[in-house]
Amino acid sequence: MYWYYILITLIAFVAMEALAWFMHKYVMHGFMWNWHKSHHSPNEGIFERNDLFAVLFSIPAVGSMMIGLTYREEWYWLFWTGIGITLYGVVYFVFHDIIVHRRIRFNARPGNPYLKNIIRAHKVHHKNRDRNKGEAFGFLYSAKKYTAE
Ligand SMILES: [Zn+2]
Ligand SMILES: [Zn+2]
Repeated sequence: MYWYYILITLIAFVAMEALAWFMHKYVMHGFMWNWHKSHHSPNEGIFERNDLFAVLFSIPAVGSMMIGLTYREEWYWLFWTGIGITLYGVVYFVFHDIIVHRRIRFNARPGNPYLKNIIRAHKVHHKNRDRNKGEAFGFLYSAKKYTAE
């Protein structure tokens, strides 16, 4: 039955991108702008207030895994949902914080068309310092129009 757990993990991963898009557009650029604006302005230190979202989002991830393992009989699938959420967090961090924002020094320029597209889309997102006017809220998926000529 391993394919079943892999499938749940993949569904959770994909759903996380949809959820991240929604949260970014309506929550982070909404009533949580107070945290997120630190990410749209030049920052001084290693950490910014926006990083607190990572802490916040780790709660449902760890929670799902704990419930899944505690109530194995019926809720084991929830453990794999937690794995999917965590995996998304890791990929998101590598893409958003390392590849795009270079929080860890990194020199190569990605030539992969998919990476180039999402990097460009996120840079377009950052051109906007404003809370309400914005575009490209996704992280791992972006519209074709951001492909550089
Ligand atoms: Zn934003
Ligand atoms: Zn960013």
